[in-house]
Amino acid sequence: MAKHKRGVNTICTHTGEVRDKQFNGAVSPIYMSTSYAYEDVEVKRYPRYFNTPNQEMLCKKIAALEHAEEALIFGSGMAAVSTAMLAFLQKGDHVVLQQTLYGGTINFVTKEFDKYGIEYSFTKGWETKDFEKKIKDNTKLLYVETPSNPLLTITDLKKVAKLAKNHNLITMIDNTFASPINQNPIDLGIDIVIHSATKYLGGHSDILAGAIAASSEHIDRIWNTGINLGGSLSDFTVWMLERSMKTLGLRVERQNKNAMKMAKYLSKHKEVSNVYYPGLKTHPGHEIAKSQMKGFGGMLSFELKKGIDSEKFVKSLKLIKASMSLAGVESTILSPTKTSHALLTPKNRAKQGIKDGLLRFSVGIEEPRDLIEDIEQAIKRCG
Ligand SMILES: *Cc1c(COP(=O)(O)O)cnc(C)c1O
Repeated sequence: MAKHKRGVNTICTHTGEVRDKQFNGAVSPIYMSTSYAYEDVEVKRYPRYFNTPNQEMLCKKIAALEHAEEALIFGSGMAAVSTAMLAFLQKGDHVVLQQTLYGGTINFVTKEFDKYGIEYSFTKGWETKDFEKKIKDNTKLLYVETPSNPLLTITDLKKVAKLAKNHNLITMIDNTFASPINQNPIDLGIDIVIHSATKYLGGHSDILAGAIAASSEHIDRIWNTGINLGGSLSDFTVWMLERSMKTLGLRVERQNKNAMKMAKYLSKHKEVSNVYYPGLKTHPGHEIAKSQMKGFGGMLSFELKKGIDSEKFVKSLKLIKASMSLAGVESTILSPTKTSHALLTPKNRAKQGIKDGLLRFSVGIEEPRDLIEDIEQAIKRCG
């Protein structure tokens, strides 16, 4: 028995390794079989049943990182989101969702739920009282995202969890932006934790995957829906993800530091009007973030002063890539108005606080001075 719990980087590197019993290699072998024996076996293995050797072992790593009893890995973040919600909601049920959510999740709910006869309400803001106001007799689930996309709003997880317990509701969180390194919602009373593993868990912008961590009881229920929806991840990508996750702790630690430096630099810049980063004391959610996060993450947003055209600024960057998605080791930047939130009307965007010049910055692991130099030269070109 170990004297103390494994540290986070030890879990990242070692938990859920598949032993190479034949050759004693240092890394997990990869089992590509979609066909396994069914006679005289304890488990009937099949990739869509989430139980191939590589799938099962990687789930242990994710569960350990999220302080959960069990985990499941999916073919994408949206496969995880949709399977989790459909496992717990049926015809006539109602779900309360935070207004500031990932665009794909909003799309899933608004385009699919009517067909299933599932009712939904979006909160007005991201405070506990906003969730409470929308709870009805048939509400079954509260769905949270914190820090949120793109303005990094912070929701108090302990309070939302308590509210849910009082009303006998299930709670789910999209923990993608924080990563398990910075935030462990299960410790705060949240039931089900979802990740787009395409982002921090993968971390190199080359893997599409999702994950869910929860109690064995909840995972069992999600598994039963998951095998019908068929959103499993193929073993080659499972293996890639295991490899990537070995450096998760190191990457995120560096991204936390870099983002803090960039947030401080940008907030002092005379051509920048607003910086949204939960690590800044000026951020309205700073105190809550400090109490429930171990690091403030690698994501931030900012607005340039009126005279500077944000489109031209983005095009003038040489090192920081104008690119969709986020959380890679390389820094990327995007305009939510033109990408993730393009389908919303300008009025609806304004309601969410998203101005046209807003830029979302995913800070990578580069040297901060190189990122600063890039931003300086881009602003000069726009001046
Ligand atoms: C990207 C993302 C998703 C969706 O994940 P995919 O892997 O693209 O399906 C869900 N939630 C958040 C917060 C995301 O950033």
